[in-house]
Amino acid sequence: MTESTVNRHRVVVIGSGFGGLTAVQSLKHADVDITMVARTTTHLFQPLLYQVATGILSEGEIAPTTRLVLRKQQNVEVLLGDVVAIDLKNGTVTSKLMTMNTVIPFDSLIVAAGAQQSYFGNDHFATFAPGMKTIDDALELRGRILGAFEAAEVTKDPAERDRRLTFVVIGAGPTGVELAGQIAELAERTLAGAFRTIEPSDCRVILMDAAPAVLPPMGPKLGLKAQRRLESMGVEVQLNAMVTNVDYQGITIKAKDGTERRIECACKVWSAGVQASPLGKMIAEQTDGTETDRAGRVVVEPDLTVKGHPNVFVVGDLMAVPGVPGMAQGAIQGAKYATGLIKKSLKGQDDPGTRSPFKYFDKGSMATVSRFDAVAKVGKIEMSGFLAWLAWLFLHLVYLVGYKNRLSTVLAWLITFTGRSRGQMAITSQMIYARLAMDRVQAQQSEALQPAAEADQPRSSDSAGA
Ligand SMILES: Cc1cc2nc3c(=O)[nH]c(=O)nc-3n(C[C@H](O)[C@H](O)[C@H](O)COP(=O)(O)OP(=O)(O)OC[C@H]3O[C@@H](n4cnc5c(N)ncnc54)[C@H](O)[C@@H]3O)c2cc1C
Repeated sequence: MTESTVNRHRVVVIGSGFGGLTAVQSLKHADVDITMVARTTTHLFQPLLYQVATGILSEGEIAPTTRLVLRKQQNVEVLLGDVVAIDLKNGTVTSKLMTMNTVIPFDSLIVAAGAQQSYFGNDHFATFAPGMKTIDDALELRGRILGAFEAAEVTKDPAERDRRLTFVVIGAGPTGVELAGQIAELAERTLAGAFRTIEPSDCRVILMDAAPAVLPPMGPKLGLKAQRRLESMGVEVQLNAMVTNVDYQGITIKAKDGTERRIECACKVWSAGVQASPLGKMIAEQTDGTETDRAGRVVVEPDLTVKGHPNVFVVGDLMAVPGVPGMAQGAIQGAKYATGLIKKSLKGQDDPGTRSPFKYFDKGSMATVSRFDAVAKVGKIEMSGFLAWLAWLFLHLVYLVGYKNRLSTVLAWLITFTGRSRGQMAITSQMIYARLAMDRVQAQQSEALQPAAEADQPRSSDSAGA
C-alpha cells in the first residue's frame, strides 16, 4: 500500500474467490485501505476445475495469482494466510501463515470464505473419494483418473482390470454431470488407440445420486435431457442410490428398498454436498442472535450483515439468503452490494436502519454435458444442445480473469473440442499421493506435539491447589 494513512477507513476482505475479488475491485477508487487475506495465492475459477481434472486446461489458466491481478490497485494489500480468529467486538481478524500470526484491524469487514466439500458426517470417505473444490483436488483427480488407465494396462488380473476401469462420480449436480461427461469423452476420444492391452472406451463411468433426478435445480425436463445425453455417451446413471461406504476397493450403495450392493472401483469422485467455512459459525456466535443453517451458512440480515454489526458483511457461498443459490453470481452481486454500502457510508449517506435490502438478479444456470452439448436455464427459458453450449462457452470466457488466460483457454478448447488431444495430460506421483502424505505428516506432527501440549495444561492437582 503506498498511500496508507492512519485515518483512512480500513476494509478487510476474507477470501479471494468470486466474492472477495469482486469486493476488492469494486473498492478500487474508494478512499479506503483494503487488506485481502486468503489461504490461497490465487483467484480460483471453480466452474472449470473439472477441465483441469480431465486434462483440458492447466491450473494456471483458471487460477491467476491474486496479487498480480491486483498489482495496479494501490489501495489493496494482499496477504496469504489462514484466518483463525475474527473478533467482532474489537474489530480484528487474525490470520496465520506457518508460525506467523498477523492481527489486522478493520472498520468494515467482508467475509467471503466460501464453502468446502461436505461428506455429510463421513469425512473418512475423503481419503478414497476426493471432492472438487480446489486446484489440489483437481490435480489429484487428474492423477487418479489417468493413473487408473495406466494401472489397468499393467494388471494381469481381469477383475482388477475391471475395477481400475470403473469410475464413479457421486453427486449428479452440474459438477458431477460435467465430470462424468468428460471422463467418458477422455476415454472415448483422447485415449483411443493409446494402450495395448486395454481399450479405454471399455471403461465404466457411473454417475450416482441419492436423489431421483439428474441436475434437480434445473427442472425435470433439462435434467432428463442431460441424463439421456450422458447415457448416449455410455455413462451409467444410477439414481435413488445412497452411498453408505467408501473404501479403497470400491463403494457400498443402499437402494430405496434398503438393499445394499457393492461397486468395485478404483477411482471415485465426491461432488455431493457443501459445507460452509467454519468462519461463518465463528462470526454468528459473536452476535446477538445470528444463526447458521444446516450447511453452516450465516443467516444474514437483509443487508447481508450480522445482527448488531452493520459493518460486517457475509457474502457468497457463506451467506444464507432465501432464493440465492450458491453460485458465482450470488457472490459477485453480494460483494457489489456490500461495497456499495461501504462507499455510501464513506460519503456519510448510509443509515444502517434504512438500508434497502439486497436483491438478487437471477442470470440463470447452465451445465455442459459433452462437447457441443449443454443445458441452460434462464428464468423460464430452457435451452439445450449446441446453442446452450455456445452460450456456456461465451459466459465462461467473459468471467475468466485475464486476457492471456482467456486466449490460452480458447486455444485449449479449440484443440480439445475440434480434435482429440488434450494439452494437460501430465501426471505426477505428487498429484496422487501428496494429500494422503500431508494428512499423515500432520497426524504425526500433532502426535509429536501432544506431550508438549499436555505439559502446557495445568495438572488437575495444580488447579485444585490454585
Ligand atoms: C466444481 C465447481 C463447479 C462450479 N460451477 C459453477 C458454475 O458453473 N456456475 C456458477 O455460477 N457457480 C459454480 N460453482 C459455484 C461457485 O464457484 C461458487 O458459488 C463461488 O465460487 C462462491 O464464491 P465465494 O467468493 O463465496 O467463495 P469461493 O470462490 O469458494 O472463495 C472462497 C475464498 O475464501 C478463502 N478462504 C476460505 N477459508 C479461509 C480462511 N479460513 N482463511 C483465509 N481464506 C479463506 C479461499 O481460499 C478462497 O479464496 C461451482 C463450484 C464448484 C466447486
